[in-house]
Parts: sequence; structure tokens; C-alpha cells
Amino acid sequence: MPLDHTTVQALAALFAAGGTNRAAHRQLGISVDTAARYRARLGYGPAPQPTPATRDTRTLAEKWATFTRPTAGGHMEWTGRRRPTCGTMEFTHHGRQYAARRVAFEIRTGRAPEGVVTAECDYPECVAPQCVEDEPGRTRLRAALAAVRGTESPLTECTRGHDAATHRRYDRNGTPYCGACRALTDARKVTA
Ligand SMILES: [Zn+2]
Ligand SMILES: [Zn+2]
Repeated sequence: MPLDHTTVQALAALFAAGGTNRAAHRQLGISVDTAARYRARLGYGPAPQPTPATRDTRTLAEKWATFTRPTAGGHMEWTGRRRPTCGTMEFTHHGRQYAARRVAFEIRTGRAPEGVVTAECDYPECVAPQCVEDEPGRTRLRAALAAVRGTESPLTECTRGHDAATHRRYDRNGTPYCGACRALTDARKVTA
């Protein structure tokens, strides 16, 4: 049965506005097939596909920056989310999870960090690229601090025989310790 004039007009208006056959079914109570037939008859092309969720065209660094806020003294705080379990500051880019400080490190150095990334400044939870260091960078920096403070150790190995050149690490205040021994202790704590 042909549609009445009023319905055809309403249908034409709906198609002209980009409405789908399904929308016609919902709004005008006609079947999807009928809507399709009238679409062809009225000379409207296929309904536009629903716009796919537009892919984020921002780079990783640009996305990262949207979650940071500069603070006094050249530091930066994270306004993004934190992983509930451990509090790691993180964000998602193109469906992948990234840790805020690892990306900050890459922004400054142009390479992936080795080991854990920490902020070496005094600003709590800083994510500024110029404040973060990976394992080798942190060890270099803290060794320099130890030299200045006179807390360096002349020993070439620890009491367990770990080579200092490879395993010596420093606390924030420049106090040396054996990284290999610390790792063993930490592992024992985890399994305990
Ligand atoms: Zn900082
Ligand atoms: Zn050791």
C-alpha cells in the first residue's frame, strides 16, 4: 500500500536531513524496507554511515600534555588518572596505556627509558620532562651528588661480592647502596 502524501513528505524531509531508514521506521512507523524503497523512489542516496568515533589525531606527546599543569619553579603536576592498585600516573592513547613519567622521559630524550623512571626534583609527584630520570640517568645524577657530599664509597664490591661498578646505586640523598642486594631483599619481601 502506498504511503499517504503527508507521510511521504515527512519521509522526504527526514532523508533530506540525513536520516536513516531505521530512523524513518522509528519516527514514522513505516517498515525499514518501505523506507528503503521510498528512499530510492524519492531520489535520495544511501543514508550516511554513523560517524565513527573520530580517531585522535594528536601525537602521544600532545595527548600527554593535556594531562599536565605547569607549577611554579618549572615543575609539572599530573591531572590525569592514576592506576588504582599502585597510583602510577597514566593515560590512554590510541587504546594503549602509558605511564606519565615514562612518556615524559621520552619527550626529553627521544628514547625509551631503562628501568624505573622517577622524578629527581623535590616537587611531589612531578612529571616535568626535565625532572625525570631512568635508572642509568638517576645513578649518574646521584653519584655526582654523592661526590659533592662526600658520601661516595671507595669499596669496589659489596659485602656479598656484587661488583660496585655495575650494581652501586644511590639513595635520594646520595647515600650509596648495592642495587643487587636491594633487589634480593625486595624479592624476598614480595614472596614473604
Ligand atoms: Zn620537577
Ligand atoms: Zn650486593
